[in-house]
Amino acid sequence: MTFEIYSHARWAIPLPPGHKFPISKYSLLVERVSGLVTVRESDPVPWDWLALVHEAPLLERIRTGQMSIREQRGLGLPWSEVLVERGRRSVGGTLAAAGYALAHGIGMNLGGGTHHAGHDFARGYCLFNDVAVTLARLRAEGLAQRAVVIDCDVHQGDGTAQILGPDPDAFTLSLHGARNYPFQRIPSDLDVDLPSGTGDDDYLAELDRALDVALADEYDVAFYLAGADPWEGDRLGRLSLTKPGLRARDELVLARLRGIPTVVVLAGGYAPDPSDTVDINAATLDCVLAEAAP
Ligand SMILES: [Zn+2]
Repeated sequence: MTFEIYSHARWAIPLPPGHKFPISKYSLLVERVSGLVTVRESDPVPWDWLALVHEAPLLERIRTGQMSIREQRGLGLPWSEVLVERGRRSVGGTLAAAGYALAHGIGMNLGGGTHHAGHDFARGYCLFNDVAVTLARLRAEGLAQRAVVIDCDVHQGDGTAQILGPDPDAFTLSLHGARNYPFQRIPSDLDVDLPSGTGDDDYLAELDRALDVALADEYDVAFYLAGADPWEGDRLGRLSLTKPGLRARDELVLARLRGIPTVVVLAGGYAPDPSDTVDINAATLDCVLAEAAP
């Protein structure tokens, strides 16, 4: 059986010339990993399912193209029908990966990790919170209740913290650059603020300590945001991890999550040359496949 992963790369957001969002990384990644795995197209989730997490007025503005200029600026992406379709499919990919993880131990979405989206806001390139919506659906279907979120994107997971922070059956860990976006934080259950320039060794030691805290309890499902943006060459990150360091991070997290069905999502990655981000994402998939091997 070949491992199945999910992609919504075909729904590429139309962006104005010179826009800095690296939309090409998603299709480059699909090209890179085709042949290694079976890539399936993610389905769009119904609006009802998004409403399990997001407030109705926000969803209505997104659905009908009524987001204000200020909201679109905060999102960092211009509204379009494709943006909305892509956002719904991104959540669908994480949900499908969760179903795969519950059946096979581990699953992966070639997208998702949109952790800046909260109950009532969409910002920082994040339209909907795929992890929170997926968990809400798993609970509604009686498939899982207790969840841990290991967020290793270089930016703090403020949207996830807003939604799941107060949830007694969810633990949110965010490990991020102290001086990175977002500048007004919503606290996670555990936030680890790392100084600019933190390199592999210190990062891995901090991560190991944080995982001891996060994994002191038992969980039905785990979400791992394997952000590529702690990389030393990233445009938007302030940490200094190398590619081997990021691979060691992935191996550490996945080893510590063994025994818990684990959903891996990409989150951010803003290398000036998108092929560097693709290297890091493909290495994460490598680690996932090593865990999935019987
Ligand atoms: Zn990020």
